[in-house]
Amino acid sequence: MDFSLPPEVAELKARTEAFVRDALIPLERDPRQTPHGPTDELRRELNALARGAGLLSPHMPREWGGLGLSHGAKAAVFEAAGYGLLGPLALNIAAPDEGNMHLLEQVADERQKRRWLAPLASAEVRSCFAMTEPHPGAGADPALLATRYRKAAGGYVINGTKWLITGADGAAFTIIMARDEESPEGQPRATMFLADMDRPGIVIERTLDTIDQSFPGGHCVVAFQDLFVPEEDVLGREGEGFRYAQVRLAPARLTHCMRWLGAARRAHDVATDYARRRHAFGKPLIDHEGVGFQLADNELDIHTCRLVTAHAAWVLDQGQKGRHESSVAKVICSEAIWRVVDRSMQVMGGLGTTGDAVVERIFREVRPFRIYDGPSEVHRWSIARKLAREGAR
Ligand SMILES: Cc1cc2nc3c(=O)[nH]c(=O)nc-3n(C[C@H](O)[C@H](O)[C@H](O)COP(=O)(O)OP(=O)(O)OC[C@H]3O[C@@H](n4cnc5c(N)ncnc54)[C@H](O)[C@@H]3O)c2cc1C
Repeated sequence: MDFSLPPEVAELKARTEAFVRDALIPLERDPRQTPHGPTDELRRELNALARGAGLLSPHMPREWGGLGLSHGAKAAVFEAAGYGLLGPLALNIAAPDEGNMHLLEQVADERQKRRWLAPLASAEVRSCFAMTEPHPGAGADPALLATRYRKAAGGYVINGTKWLITGADGAAFTIIMARDEESPEGQPRATMFLADMDRPGIVIERTLDTIDQSFPGGHCVVAFQDLFVPEEDVLGREGEGFRYAQVRLAPARLTHCMRWLGAARRAHDVATDYARRRHAFGKPLIDHEGVGFQLADNELDIHTCRLVTAHAAWVLDQGQKGRHESSVAKVICSEAIWRVVDRSMQVMGGLGTTGDAVVERIFREVRPFRIYDGPSEVHRWSIARKLAREGAR
């Protein structure tokens, strides 16, 4: 096993770190950050900065203007970007766009790529991914998919309501997951559709108030009311929606691990710095075992996250699907990252809970990671089912 980074990846990682430190962290108090994420004006400025630094869309193949990074290389660069609250957005590697780019690149036809992937890869536009639904529809259990489509002359008509759709407000287009209304209850046959957000029949009903605030456009409730989608805008093949969801999810989960690991490392660095400088009971906080051990545990969690992420990235780089490995990494990282940020807050005392320290923001940003892209419990449940199947064999 060779754990060293290729020189060009190490160079790119160092350049990303410097860009985050010098260009992005000073902008973290820019007032164009709303409770529903940075404004699009700010996003465009950040993308221009990244473009100027040669760091825009590094994950995309060169034909789409990127640097063609492997999954392993992404692990290093995305973590470096995640160190800044604005890093992933600036580099155009934030969710949901990054996952959508990957999906389009893998599944879309040439016309669809020119129409939807090209402007997304160059950060001209944003997109969203519409899968989750309010009760009683799809959430942790995708088989509950309730948004339905039926065949019509020249295309399909879609009806249903989605929610928690990140970035819907201001997105140029959406990828919609819907079920064939003829398919049996509990065993939906699903298809993905592409649709521009300004088409008649797409209504953003409201933007939800959520704990986090780093995604432009926030998280929205979106209704599809007799939305007509022409045949040529089916993404991939009809009936393959669940398979494509996996094509998107396995790498998308892992890139969340990479970016949020960078954020956790930032919280840890800030807390460590505080514990070295702040004194209590006659010595620096870090010299109290109760504090020093918390920071040591942070180091252990961060190292574990980096290793499991690198391993799952390696599996993907071997051309394997990596579903199991990315699922394992997602549970380990989302929980370890949470612990790191929680300990960092504790070490910083009252200051850690205030907006004066970045730890409070990071704390709010990382919490939902244990829920989206599959709650921890669902991943554990599916790992346990795999064990049961193997036992049966
Ligand atoms: C910030 C954020 C952004 C999001 N962005 C998007 C987006 O852009 N597009 C999109 O489509 N969706 C998005 N989601 C939705 C996300 O994918 C869902 O929240 C997630 O899949 C869980 O579904 P649910 O919320 O309906 O939870 P539910 O299905 O109601 O489940 C609730 C809880 O039940 C438990 N549970 C469920 N099943 C099991 C089981 N088998 N065993 C044990 N426990 C179980 C888990 O603890 C789970 O958290 C986002 C969510 C958040 C929080």
